[in-house]
Amino acid sequence: MSNATPSARQWEHARRVIPRGASSGHRLGWTQVFVRSQGAYLWDQEGNRYLDFLNAWGPIVLGHSDARVNEAVLAAANTCDLTGVGPQLGEIELAEKVCELMPSAEKVVFCTSGTDATMHAAHIARAATGRVKVLKFHGSYHGWSDHVAVGGARADLTREAPLDTVNSAGLHPGVTGDVVVVEWNDAAGLRAAFERHGAELAAAFAEGYVHSFGCVAPEPGFLELLRELCTRHGVLFVLDEVKTGFRAALGGIQSVNGVVPDLTAFGKAIANGYSLAGLAGRDEFMGHLGAYTHGEATIDGTYNANPYAIAAANATLGIMEREDTISRLYALGERLRTGYANAIAETGVEAVVTGIGSEWAVYFRGEAPRNFRDTMDVDTDRYAAYQASLLAQGVLETTSATGDRRLNASTTEEDIDRAVEAARTAFAAAAAV
Ligand code: PMP
Repeated sequence: MSNATPSARQWEHARRVIPRGASSGHRLGWTQVFVRSQGAYLWDQEGNRYLDFLNAWGPIVLGHSDARVNEAVLAAANTCDLTGVGPQLGEIELAEKVCELMPSAEKVVFCTSGTDATMHAAHIARAATGRVKVLKFHGSYHGWSDHVAVGGARADLTREAPLDTVNSAGLHPGVTGDVVVVEWNDAAGLRAAFERHGAELAAAFAEGYVHSFGCVAPEPGFLELLRELCTRHGVLFVLDEVKTGFRAALGGIQSVNGVVPDLTAFGKAIANGYSLAGLAGRDEFMGHLGAYTHGEATIDGTYNANPYAIAAANATLGIMEREDTISRLYALGERLRTGYANAIAETGVEAVVTGIGSEWAVYFRGEAPRNFRDTMDVDTDRYAAYQASLLAQGVLETTSATGDRRLNASTTEEDIDRAVEAARTAFAAAAAV
């Protein structure tokens, strides 16, 4: 009889039938197998409880296994499941709500993942402009389609690696070769890129507040400059709100910083864990979506706007509006960041905590980074000691030394205070490395 733990045995089973043992690369690096979720917590097979600061990389915003959301999903499934014909009632309701909340949204379509949403944005931009190239920022992740899977936050990159290093083997070089990559917060580099490629660019993709390599705000005027350059050169500004949408604010980060894009990709928090994403934008551009006709881009998908995820989203947004969940997320996030910053000061470890609302990042370096290159010199050994200490104390944070983390609205003030205590021990462990 093997004396391996139940989790270890499950990983072994998994590796036999799933490449590397899990269906998404971000899920590797853990020994736990989680079997229960509720509110702010996850439980592994051994029965250990963890305060969850991953929240499935963004979607879980109200809390795990929210009974109100699950009941809405079940009611939808039992009333009228997927028909594949015309719009469904919940879809119309949700589209009206997104158009009401999001400044850039005159029309909206729903798909199933952020990858879908940004891919469709690239198609629309090309259809609308007749141009081919797209611009994006170094380290920003916009999903796995060949159109944007370049210059991402690969952990193995060095400072010398070209900005436009592709994210994976197997991508089409003809497509990835048409991606122009600029360093985040580099206004001169951005101007130069538009000077050189402006007439060939269909779209520029940006996060309104970068979460792809932690939490890095745009410097004052940077997004405004991008907006201005896009307008001047006839380029569609695609704002990727997959992480910030319905979390940084109900209207997205665009309603916080006031810079309105032409198209907005969103997903994650909208449906509290059910797979829903979408693309919103000005009618002028969304009107380029047609059905297989020349000159129009197409959106088609068996599970697009599936009524289960749509019901989850309508329930989630309803609760967030009624309960002012965003204010709660901001208050909890502020309490945590203040506690972590104090713990860093007390332990004397070289680290900084940054973030907005419910999101934060911990960088083991002297100053907050301005861009992706800056994050490459974080002390990964210290980070590993910090993360392992937190995990041993029942707090689940990402294994990535440059990753963002987040809380959900079921987290209590007591949970935060306990996490701050755990972080103090973890920062001390990192200082000792
Ligand atoms: N854009 C951003 C900013 C993201 O963080 C992600 C996912 N982490 C995506 C796009 C892709 O979304 P999905 O995983 O739903 O395809």
